[in-house]
Amino acid sequence: MELLQAKNGFFGEFGGSFVPEVLQPALDHLETAFNRFKDDPDFINEFEYYLKDFVGRPSPLYLAERLTKELGGAKIYLKREDLNHTGAHKINNVLGQILLAKRMGVKRIIAETGAGQHGVATATACALFGMECVIYMGELDTERQALNVFRMELLGAKVVAVKDGGRTLKEAVDAALIDYMENYHTTFYLLGSAVGPHPYPTIVRHFQQVIGREAHVQHMEKEGRLPDYLLACVGGGSNAIGLFAPFYNESSVKIIGVEPAGKGLESGLHAATLSTGVPGTIHGFKAYMMVDEHGEIAPAHSIAAGLDYQGVGPEHCFYKDSGRAQYVSVTDDEALKAFQILSKTEGIIPALESSHAVAYALKFAPTLSPEQTIIVNVSGRGDKDVYQVFELLSEK
Ligand SMILES: *Cc1c(COP(=O)(O)O)cnc(C)c1O
Repeated sequence: MELLQAKNGFFGEFGGSFVPEVLQPALDHLETAFNRFKDDPDFINEFEYYLKDFVGRPSPLYLAERLTKELGGAKIYLKREDLNHTGAHKINNVLGQILLAKRMGVKRIIAETGAGQHGVATATACALFGMECVIYMGELDTERQALNVFRMELLGAKVVAVKDGGRTLKEAVDAALIDYMENYHTTFYLLGSAVGPHPYPTIVRHFQQVIGREAHVQHMEKEGRLPDYLLACVGGGSNAIGLFAPFYNESSVKIIGVEPAGKGLESGLHAATLSTGVPGTIHGFKAYMMVDEHGEIAPAHSIAAGLDYQGVGPEHCFYKDSGRAQYVSVTDDEALKAFQILSKTEGIIPALESSHAVAYALKFAPTLSPEQTIIVNVSGRGDKDVYQVFELLSEK
């Protein structure tokens, strides 16, 4: 299972490192440490130990039998990242990076968060290892996600409400980068998705590839062959690349990423970066990004807060341009329906983010034959979204 290697930090024309000069030594230092420790047997053992005993891995590959029967097409397998401790795939990456920070001798961790999911995962791992933790969050997001702010504080983190600009994720990232620039000798910036300047996309993928590696083995055990399709939702792209990357060289396995079409691609209220964006530079790397008519970064919208990002991981950009993967989109309404359907037919309440991948499976599986299989990555559980869905359904 060879992964696609970035060349000088680039996947094709995407990725790279477009940061202020003062930050580059910190990224070089990080890359050196990552390359030194990633294959170190002690490091690997420790990472695997926490994945198993703290996160609860491996996550099952579960045959959704009733859903498959109801749709009458391909067999649908669910990769159950929702069963991880803290309820999503994010913890895989966070643990890997914390262990790396520990090896680098750093005791202060900073991170940005949008809806709070990455912040909670980071605060969790910092509590586990007794590290100082500062989470940057847009002020608007701290109001919308007050319960996640409380969770982070409960876990011992300090949450900084960023009051600049639109007061959401973009401003939180900027604030975290400024902190990192000033403090990189003593501070580790723990990035939450397969985005940002090199080497972050490579590091995040490295720690998330456990999803695809497990799925590979599990599908082999159950079916005696490789799956036909992989489906995952794409925000920044970390759960998707974690599932996809180990299958990169298996050309018989078709890869589909599902983006949030929000209220419809024509409405402008969406976050379907790969489907509608243009190449540009965002947050220190080159990728497809959403821009307005003046070429400025445009606001993003999705029913799923975790998919609400104007950029996307560089490896996905390369997958798209090279044709290795296809990127489709589903609307808020379709995701909301899928949220309910998976709950009713399988007893699994998926995260609204994951519901996008499920929604596409609902449309796509019936077009395939019963001999074919699809792995759908259930990136997280929907408990966090139940109240939002309750309110949305009450309005209707
Ligand atoms: C954060 C999140 C996502 C989106 O992030 P990616 O980096 O695209 O994976 C998807 N699903 C869940 C449950 C999340 O919490």
